[in-house]
Amino acid sequence: MAKEQARGSRNQDITLDPWGTVEVKDYDRLLKVFGIKPFSDVMPLLKKAGMEPSLHMKRGIIFGHRDFDKVLEAKAKGEPVAVLTGFMPSGKFHFGHKMTVDQLIYLQRHGFKIFVVIADAEASIVRKIPRKEAIRIGVEEYIASMIALGLDPKKTDFYFQTSRGTSYYRLIQLFAGKITTAEMEAIYGDISPAKVIAALTQAADILHVQLEEYGGYKWVVVPVGADQDPHLRLTRDIADRVSDIINLTRPASTYHRLQRGLDGGKMSSSRPEYTIFLTDEPRIARMKLMKALTGGRATAEEQRRLGGIPEACTVYDMDKYHLMQDDELSRIYNSCRSGSLLCGECKLLAWSKLEKFLDDYKRRLEKARDIAWSIVDVPKF
Ligand code: SF4
Repeated sequence: MAKEQARGSRNQDITLDPWGTVEVKDYDRLLKVFGIKPFSDVMPLLKKAGMEPSLHMKRGIIFGHRDFDKVLEAKAKGEPVAVLTGFMPSGKFHFGHKMTVDQLIYLQRHGFKIFVVIADAEASIVRKIPRKEAIRIGVEEYIASMIALGLDPKKTDFYFQTSRGTSYYRLIQLFAGKITTAEMEAIYGDISPAKVIAALTQAADILHVQLEEYGGYKWVVVPVGADQDPHLRLTRDIADRVSDIINLTRPASTYHRLQRGLDGGKMSSSRPEYTIFLTDEPRIARMKLMKALTGGRATAEEQRRLGGIPEACTVYDMDKYHLMQDDELSRIYNSCRSGSLLCGECKLLAWSKLEKFLDDYKRRLEKARDIAWSIVDVPKF
């Protein structure tokens, strides 16, 4: 068994389950345990590849990578590079999703070809989402949202898993012959036939863009949250194992911190009271933000005396991941720490940005929905 896979996905207090709930408390430890490299290692290579660091890179939100240095070196030499990411159409589009799309937009502007898979097969077999609903969500919530946020549909290959071509399916079958049940259990723990198919389909999603008919991209990076790392390790091992039949390069990956929900728990469509959706009515979004868990003290007097704790604050997360420019963010951080800013006032600052964003986004989304239906090959059944 290859080295990366042998680490499994469970290690003492850290469990990575792409289908479950993952809370990572110590990212440095996660890097060590799973053999992910710190993203700071590749920061000096960005310039050679003609790239300025993105907001997520500068703020440490993207914290790790596997082989992204190789992708940047290839790009610096003028070789074509690509990104693949996927979304499961199982709920409404929220700010955690937006973070991934912001990365895609950044990479697209730097010349990466973008592939976005709507994982409708996985939504049906693992999450039991009715087919028609999965397709509607895929187009109207996900593809439309990505276009509304600024991803250029002319330079993006959006596709549904169930409407991809024969060679893509051929890869899934090929991969199935290269892995054992025991190895799948070592990576994923409890595994069902549906999850096996979903995992191998994801491996095909990541690797098929290297086939000539999909562009022949040798250097592919997959931006993910740490919870998705088991899929990456499986796919990298599979790329090695099929080398007797087909030449596929191991994919690279970057890892971002998962934005917390507004109670400090998981941000998820299944926890709507703690998750702001991009289509939330202003009244609802405001209410959620005003009730959000902060790093403030019990009383105003105490906060003025001791200062707040931005690292513990979910409003600060919204500022850091989405809302504030660098100078605004550092002003908020320092004023919070010194106690000169109180949480009520700070939430209103965040709301003034969020309200404008949601208003602009709503108008862009209406147009983007029509475009979304027209550019994607919608599955027939
Ligand atoms: S002042 Fe702002 S950043 Fe500080 S804890 Fe309160 S809401 Fe969070």
